Amino acid sequence: CGVFGVIGVPDAANFTALGLHALQHRGQEAGGIVSYDATAGFNSARRFGYVRDNFTKQSLMETLPGELAIGHVRYSTSGGKMPVIRDVQPFFGEFSMGGAAIAHNGNITNAMALRKELIERGSIFQSNSDSECIIHLMARSLQRTIPERMEDALRRVEGAFSVVAMTRTKLIGVRDPLGVRPLVLGQVGDGWVLSSETCALDIIGAKYIREIAPGELVVITKSGVESHHPFRKQKSRFCIFEHVYFSRPDSIIGDRSVYETRRQIGVELAKESPVEADIVCPVPDSGVPAAIGFSQQSGIPYAMGIIRNQYMGRTFIEPTEQIRNMGVRLKLNVNRALIEGKRVILVDDSVVRGTTSRKIREMILDAGAAEVHFRIASPPTAWPCFYGVDTPQRDKLLAATMSEEEMRQHLAVDSLKFISLDGMYRAVGEAEGRNAKCPQYCDACFSGEYPVRPSDQIEQGFEL
Ligand code: 5GP
Ligand code: SF4
Ligand code: MG
Repeated sequence: CGVFGVIGVPDAANFTALGLHALQHRGQEAGGIVSYDATAGFNSARRFGYVRDNFTKQSLMETLPGELAIGHVRYSTSGGKMPVIRDVQPFFGEFSMGGAAIAHNGNITNAMALRKELIERGSIFQSNSDSECIIHLMARSLQRTIPERMEDALRRVEGAFSVVAMTRTKLIGVRDPLGVRPLVLGQVGDGWVLSSETCALDIIGAKYIREIAPGELVVITKSGVESHHPFRKQKSRFCIFEHVYFSRPDSIIGDRSVYETRRQIGVELAKESPVEADIVCPVPDSGVPAAIGFSQQSGIPYAMGIIRNQYMGRTFIEPTEQIRNMGVRLKLNVNRALIEGKRVILVDDSVVRGTTSRKIREMILDAGAAEVHFRIASPPTAWPCFYGVDTPQRDKLLAATMSEEEMRQHLAVDSLKFISLDGMYRAVGEAEGRNAKCPQYCDACFSGEYPVRPSDQIEQGFEL
């Protein structure tokens, strides 16, 4: 998901809509905005579909006045798989000291246990979302201010969270102690902005100030930014998959350009797994920077052998298997004239279920390719993510049950190679590769080493 918030600018909801539009790649199912104005109070709008189709209508935006607003774009990782509007954020709570709204990116790994406990003690849940626990924990806290209640609540929450919240006068941002999901701070005019990614600062002309640190909670008012550290300090474990796929290539993470990291992954891949071929083609859009790097390193010409229909979203995010299957053809088509008779290297960011790669191989061979070689810009995805990226259950993951050679046969390609874990770490700037004793990032979906125990999942029978 994507989160965004702004304080101290007129028509904050319009800025929020623009920010969410830039974060649309993080969630395409639904979006929501809450704003506050001294006369109109708190107002909210939550809608299914794209930001541009909802939050551009003047009649809707007029209902969201004020100089303070937060927003959320959602794709469901927890909660019911049937999309329901009750699950769309931001969530709102009314406390004795006033109202508060919150928007959460990530996944709470002990949400089921918390929910059970809270319901037994009388909380009335409105949604299926794990994020709603935070509101109920805040309601039960005995602290006097909302930021203090949030600290209380979040100390009971395990897992990954980047939260943007607001009261009548404050914009609040928090990252979990490991800093699994991103959150950055920016400045626009006399106001302040919080956003999942820097690309959403660019769209509103905001200046990037810094990242919110792992475990940091900031309280922002018109007079400035106050920083708190409510959690026990731990070594950070940022999601390495944000670099590989999830974030936009024009965003900056930890002073590194996401595009440059992805290009570098392509360079590493070409060094690790070279192959003779006539052209290097990306699987658009997610494979583009790595394909450029592969081509630069190998000297094999880069070409757009697959053309992307710009009117389709990210296939992975479509909830059902059947739609996903069709989705590949609706989204991607082979550039026949270019492919015919050629030995083709295809570069994609990841193989999850293998749906995309199988279809693409079929299409490329139909178009008359002489050979098909897959090069994948992440290691085999063998484990589900429980921290906010929607990977399927373990038995649906190709790499959970197959070796690299078995996957090659299953996909029926001439060769298939994944970047090594160390190669991926080198590409994100860790010259020595992965520190096996104390990994610098979360890479659980590749390594199976979960930095936070997925306790709800284990309760349900998941085996580490
Ligand atoms: P597959 O078809 O193998 O299930 O999925 C691989 C494709 O889905 C890749 O082209 C990749 O760009 C995209 N993808 C991979 N992982 C994720 C993810 O965790 N979330 C989303 N939204 N898309 C993904
Ligand atoms: Fe990111 Fe993978 Fe860790 Fe999930 S398991 S947070 S996708 S690195
Ligand atoms: Mg892709």
